[in-house]
Amino acid sequence: SKKHIATPMRTKEILAKYKFSFKKSLGQNFLIDVNILENIIRHAGIDKKSGVIEIGPGIGALTEQLAIHAEKVLAYEIDQRLLPILADTLEGYDNVELIHQDILEATVEQAIKANFKPDQPIHIVANLPYYITTPILMKLLREQLPVSSLTVMIQKEVAERMAAKPNSKSYGSLTVAVQYYTEAEVVMKVPKSVFMPQPNVDSSVLRLTTRENPPVHVENEDHFFSIVQASFAQRRKTLRNNLSHFFKEKYDKETIGKMLDGIGIDGTRRGESLDISEFAALANLFYKDNN
Ligand code: SAM
Repeated sequence: SKKHIATPMRTKEILAKYKFSFKKSLGQNFLIDVNILENIIRHAGIDKKSGVIEIGPGIGALTEQLAIHAEKVLAYEIDQRLLPILADTLEGYDNVELIHQDILEATVEQAIKANFKPDQPIHIVANLPYYITTPILMKLLREQLPVSSLTVMIQKEVAERMAAKPNSKSYGSLTVAVQYYTEAEVVMKVPKSVFMPQPNVDSSVLRLTTRENPPVHVENEDHFFSIVQASFAQRRKTLRNNLSHFFKEKYDKETIGKMLDGIGIDGTRRGESLDISEFAALANLFYKDNN
């Protein structure tokens, strides 16, 4: 059988053959360990029925393993220089479709319809470019794509924020936004030594399992997310203070305190102590008072 792409030796060969130079600005840290890739694929729950969307195939390390384990792989790569390389390294894998596009500009829902079977289980799997992890994940979540899960290698601290529990240091507006759409779990910690070049930060694999329905009812999603953000605006301040600042002249601190009492939330608590259902109650309260 063929030599895997994801080894130090094969990766060096490919880079030398094409005189490829890494672009730090594109978050290019390639995986050189097949075991790590197989673990990611196992955690993602990929099998021969799966359709997979990959973001940033690089020279194809993860793409190759996905092609082996899944039914079909659709991969978005922004760097034009990698396309001829991928055509070479992935030659013989006829279940891979490459799209040369910035994922932030992509119409993924249309691509899903065009590339996968109706009712096929679809998973997103990626070793993400770290400089735009949050914009990529929030775009994919907010579009509410028909995907079962997103399993991504990202910076350890960001993974911890997305999977955090209330009353922890990492819990914040990003946590609530991600957990509104998914169940989040850190499934692996990954050493720097499995990348070429090695990144400056530690990495983890985060698995997001898409919810069938939101865990709470909110009257208006945009409004909900802005109330959550306002509640964390100054982490050390009370909910009452943060919200009265957000609403400026509309309500004073005392009025906000009374409104919060009405839904059983003490206004002297901090935003970090509220769980998602308390945030929903809070947002709905202010939404109804204004609409
Ligand atoms: N999947 C490969 C691996 O694991 O070895 C490469 C991962 S590397 C961390 C990130 C990849 O994402 C690079 O190939 C980079 O060129 C690509 N990339 C960066 N920004 C992108 C964007 N906005 N849209 C699509 N791909 C992007």
